[in-house]
Amino acid sequence: MARDYYGTLGVRQDATSEEIKRAYRKLARELHPDVNPDEAAQTRFREVTAAYEVLSDPQKRKIVDLGGDPLGAMGGGGGGGRDPFGGFGLGDIMDAFFGAAGAGGGGRGPRSRVQPGSDALLRIQMTLEECATGVTREIAVETAILCDLCRGSGCAAGSVPVTCDTCGGRGEVQSVQRSFLGQVVTARACHTCRGLGEVIPDPCRQCQGEGRVRARRTIAAKIPPGVADGMRVRLSGQGEVGPGGGPAGDLYVEVEELPHATFERAGADLHCTLRVPMTTAALGAVLPLETLDGPVDLELEPGTQPDTELVMSGRGLPRLRSTGRVDGRGDLHVHVEVEIPTRLDARQTELLRELAAVRGEEEHTLAGANGRAGGLFSRLRSRHTR
Ligand SMILES: [Zn+2]
Ligand SMILES: [Zn+2]
Repeated sequence: MARDYYGTLGVRQDATSEEIKRAYRKLARELHPDVNPDEAAQTRFREVTAAYEVLSDPQKRKIVDLGGDPLGAMGGGGGGGRDPFGGFGLGDIMDAFFGAAGAGGGGRGPRSRVQPGSDALLRIQMTLEECATGVTREIAVETAILCDLCRGSGCAAGSVPVTCDTCGGRGEVQSVQRSFLGQVVTARACHTCRGLGEVIPDPCRQCQGEGRVRARRTIAAKIPPGVADGMRVRLSGQGEVGPGGGPAGDLYVEVEELPHATFERAGADLHCTLRVPMTTAALGAVLPLETLDGPVDLELEPGTQPDTELVMSGRGLPRLRSTGRVDGRGDLHVHVEVEIPTRLDARQTELLRELAAVRGEEEHTLAGANGRAGGLFSRLRSRHTR
């Protein structure tokens, strides 16, 4: 009995190749052994992968549509064949994670020697100032690069791969048996060529036929202004070169933002605390404030009260949108703290007493006792009467 490949992927028989691809990707994410290690999920993952392998190949799909089973009636669905991810652009980090797992196992039909390379992730530390302006950082990475001796072919100069004698280039070895049910075909990957259908008789000395070599290289990573802790910047094509000199994956650079001595960040806004003596708060002043743009004059009005918050518009960080565009800047919030002097000497005490006398200030006022909002006593009283 032929297996129900359409049912396994949960698509209709007239599904487009795009729909099949989408259904497979969705299931693969849920069932991938790295995500879902339990045995039932792994069995299902193998079935789903086998179904995708069949239905994404027009010839195999035709066999299914004619009521046959291209994997043979006996064959288990085990082992992913050709890299099922090969046809997709590696878009996000989830794909990166699949990219490495895709090229596994012995398979059916010659699989390509050339496979896409894996993505890579690395972290860099940035100061708040660097997050504000953006930086171009030289990063040394240990990665796989194209073998420059054979340019990825894996062959020594003047030699070429030759068709595998064992499998005749099919990458698999088939055995046909006749039974009362009809013809039964079983296939396994060719051991001589590891399923590639061809062998390299004279491998490149530098890469031993891999088409790539490990090397340390320096990449100039351009980080845009406005990035924040945990954000990832994708450097397309800067990941590892694939087996057989396949196209390189992407490099993701994750930002680790270092704490700042003065400013605390909230999105694109910045907050800082400014301590001023009581006399400065009373008299007012123009104070130089070190901002991300250098020193800026901050005007403190005479009679500034404790816990006043002054907002310096546009003195925060660039507002980085998900599109990668910068849309204006955040604000700088200055929280004013007023310091009351302690340890007054005789002269200072005398001056303050004189000030109090001149201003006609009593020793204390019961603020809010007459019902004005915010007074301690009115709050206490209303709590009692409730
Ligand atoms: Zn080489
Ligand atoms: Zn072979």
